[in-house]
Amino acid sequence: MHRLDRLSLQLGIDFWMKRDDLTGFAGGGNKGRKLEYLMAEAQASGATAVVSCGASQSNFIRQLGAACAVLGMRCIVATMDSPYETVDRRIAAPAEGGNAYLDRWFGIERHRVPDGTWEELETRAGALAALLESEGESVFRIPLGGSSVLAVQAFVDAGREVGAGFDWIVTASSSGSTQVGLGHAFQGTETKIYGISADPEPEIVDDLVELSARYAEWAGVPALPRSDIRFSLDFVGPGYGVPGHDTEHARELMSRREGILLDPVYSGKAFAGLVGLVGSGEISGRVLFWHTGGLPALFARQS
Ligand SMILES: *Cc1c(COP(=O)(O)O)cnc(C)c1O
Repeated sequence: MHRLDRLSLQLGIDFWMKRDDLTGFAGGGNKGRKLEYLMAEAQASGATAVVSCGASQSNFIRQLGAACAVLGMRCIVATMDSPYETVDRRIAAPAEGGNAYLDRWFGIERHRVPDGTWEELETRAGALAALLESEGESVFRIPLGGSSVLAVQAFVDAGREVGAGFDWIVTASSSGSTQVGLGHAFQGTETKIYGISADPEPEIVDDLVELSARYAEWAGVPALPRSDIRFSLDFVGPGYGVPGHDTEHARELMSRREGILLDPVYSGKAFAGLVGLVGSGEISGRVLFWHTGGLPALFARQS
């Protein structure tokens, strides 16, 4: 974690960054923290193979592949180029290169299925798991994006690394375990969490409320009230994986002022959100931007 002096001056806030883009597992990113706990559970279960699913440009799958390599497990995933129902497929995020390229290095067994819905993708992963089990493999299933109570716990612990003193923490948010975990870490303190959505789906807030309720029951702590789950859909731009003008402006601002790259899918939108919310006066004071990684998306391309 370090201060961003030039942007502090420009934005008129005391501005810091948490560098989860510089963590382990194949180039880093927020999925590494989730995997630390998920893979411990996979190992404890005696599994020989892990099955999951995601988009072709999934950062989670790339990092999962690296984690499986470290532990000597097979990694089998179902992927869809564009499982995003709300995205016009003509402007959909590029599916080749980037994470899809890196996946090969870890020997990830990718089963690319035709575009459809997230539910269809999860059904395909379920069928893959069943097939492997019928072949005698011991399978550990990991949900989309690794989102589970363990993933939330990973970010409760991450929050403790930061400690007190921030007015705001801003993070990209999608499956929500990052935001919900940080929310629980700072529950009842002065520090407020703001999630900036990468998906144009208003019902995500309900998913975050539900994830917090599940975590609360599992961990024996109070759930986050809905009013503590601050979540903005205003910076998604044209759709998931497709940056808007404000995203590109924000990425340029970060790289030219601080020499730090942001990705077009998550962290670029989150920083655009931070700039927008500082501009409107909603966010001020001592602010921490949680850099969630995603660098490979800069090298994604159309097939
Ligand atoms: C997955 C991901 C996110 C979103 O994290 P969630 O915990 O799923 O909300 C943000 N940024 C990057 C780079 C990611 O890969």
